[in-house]
Amino acid sequence: NSDLILYVNLELVNRKSNRRYVVQEMLGQGTFGQVAKCWDAETNNYVAVKVIKNQPAFYQQAIMEVSLLSLLNEKFDPDDQHHIVRMLDFFLYHNHLCIAFEMLGNNLYELLKRNNLRGLQMKYVRTFSRQILDALIVMKDAGIIHCDLKPENILIAPTVKTAAGVKVIDLGSACMEGKTIYSYIQSRYYRSPEVLLGYPYTTAIDMWSFGCIVAELFIGLPLFPGASEYDVLSRMIEILGGQPPDDLLREAKNTGQFFKHVGSIYPGSETRNGAGSAYRILSEDEIEARESKRPKVGRWYFPRGRLDRLIFTYPWKNFTEENLPDAEKADCLALVDFLRGLVEFDPNK
Ligand code: ADP
Ligand code: MG
Repeated sequence: NSDLILYVNLELVNRKSNRRYVVQEMLGQGTFGQVAKCWDAETNNYVAVKVIKNQPAFYQQAIMEVSLLSLLNEKFDPDDQHHIVRMLDFFLYHNHLCIAFEMLGNNLYELLKRNNLRGLQMKYVRTFSRQILDALIVMKDAGIIHCDLKPENILIAPTVKTAAGVKVIDLGSACMEGKTIYSYIQSRYYRSPEVLLGYPYTTAIDMWSFGCIVAELFIGLPLFPGASEYDVLSRMIEILGGQPPDDLLREAKNTGQFFKHVGSIYPGSETRNGAGSAYRILSEDEIEARESKRPKVGRWYFPRGRLDRLIFTYPWKNFTEENLPDAEKADCLALVDFLRGLVEFDPNK
């Protein structure tokens, strides 16, 4: 990986900035910079060019994005079969690092919004999930943690040969497994328990985010839309019916922000595997007493209740557990089972 980073830096010195790309319109902007739809006068194609802010920290992280993506594209997915965006070019322009990507369509959050946040049909949930999982398996094989998997970073790919396709984008927060640097990563709704609690993390954190995304594709709304980290964690406990295992809580750095150590195991504290716990999550009042400002909430439209109920009855499907047709029921049961394996508190599982 350090060889790759060196190579990218050397390449940048050699590549003269050029007038090959003509900006047409803005596609999006994020913390790292802006993404423009451009006409590539050399290939006569549209491309998406990400223009990185010209500040050292963003530059360094973008070098990482270029390095990891070229590794993924060239070594792990040479035939473009695994639903990872293709990088076409990178160069410096007026001191901005620029990365040219193949042009893709809307992101999945935009798709959900167009559907009035009512979720997608199961067949699309299935297709998209399989494709995202395909990308994640390749990243795991490459030892790369994406660190920011969310609907905004999954794009409709019109060029994929199957009827409906998606690709994973934005390696802008990614890192190599075993060389993790940052502790404040992942977007809050998709943040894994180990990152919230401050526990060493692996590619398993992408699997957590993936579970959150699969659920959201079906119900149309985020699974754990917490207004604060505490809110996210308490929603996890409510929806999944259980809490992170004591081994994790004992070793994680931030446990004290969310849990009270109650010493010996107390009644009613069973985790999902049936073991008791020596920790209890703080009450809202206890959190309020600690925090000067109360978390902002617009809770009314956020999912609540157990995972299976959310999937079975949530909310636009107009079904209750009683009147759910058999075919639909089998699909929902399979989805709940699949999700259970993904939004699993124990990263080793
Ligand atoms: P950031 O790191 O700032 O989040 P992204 O790489 O995620 O940058 O790009 C930001 C947004 O720009 C994306 O959410 C998407 O809407 C749009 N975008 C990025 N890459 C492409 C692409 N290859 N084709 C079309 N749109 C893109
Ligand atoms: Mg992004």
